[in-house]
Amino acid sequence: MKNKIAIVTGGTRGIGKAIAIDLKKAGAKVIASYQGNEEAALAFKKETGIAISRFDVADYEQCNTAVRTVEAEYGRVDILINNAGITRDGFLHKMGEDSWDSVLDTNLKSCFNMCRAVIEGMRTRGFGRIITISSINGQLGQFGQTNYSAAKAGVFGFTKALARECAAKGITVNAVAPGYIETDMVKAVQEDVLKKIVGNIPVGRLGQPSEIARAVCFLAADEAGFITGETLSINGGQYME
Ligand code: NDP
Repeated sequence: MKNKIAIVTGGTRGIGKAIAIDLKKAGAKVIASYQGNEEAALAFKKETGIAISRFDVADYEQCNTAVRTVEAEYGRVDILINNAGITRDGFLHKMGEDSWDSVLDTNLKSCFNMCRAVIEGMRTRGFGRIITISSINGQLGQFGQTNYSAAKAGVFGFTKALARECAAKGITVNAVAPGYIETDMVKAVQEDVLKKIVGNIPVGRLGQPSEIARAVCFLAADEAGFITGETLSINGGQYME
């Protein structure tokens, strides 16, 4: 992975932060993106020395401009980690169109936006690693998360289709499906609900961001060229396919 250029969306906090740090440790030059939490992004940059870039993954033009800017500065993009994601939970019978659209746009359309921007360069150079962070809730279907479950399940189909399109071009496309990981996203879940969730995890605890980063680095490695179209589930045994 030495000197490979990697973009990690949502790379300044939570799971993305752990991924950005591990990719850097493995020798990649990393650019971590974020949307609006400038304070966290600047603290991340100071702590890690990793470059940051502010843009909205739900916006096609912003993604395209951000990738062109990285290419202008670093020459190319070799590794793309589609990690940025949000939840806007609610029962379908109470869900507004804005909650549906923002979750689908941020978690799924973002994959199109970012992959579209990097894919031609990867195809021309004959190398690429694309890894998207899906979720156990895209596998199980979660109460109160029709929007999020649909978006994260959509990632699996997107991943397989793009993996087929790019397999002969040295580009692998895979998904990682985390279970419940200790980040701000999960800290926002009500305490009693979280207790119930942990009770359903055979390993008996929440996962750590570093445990997801380890799998992403494995899939991003030069040596992982024969793994494509796959989903790696990391959930403490909560869901076994
Ligand atoms: P966090 O909420 O901790 O961090 C989210 C990151 O994504 C932040 O850097 C945030 O930027 C960025 N982001 C959010 N929306 C956008 C946007 N529109 N454009 C650009 N960046 C954006 O999330 P987690 O680390 O918990 O989750 C990371 C991924 O893992 C998500 O895709 C999530 O769905 C998935 N996941 C998480 C699980 C968990 O238990 N935590 C379980 C399964 C999947 P900013 O700081 O500016 O807000």
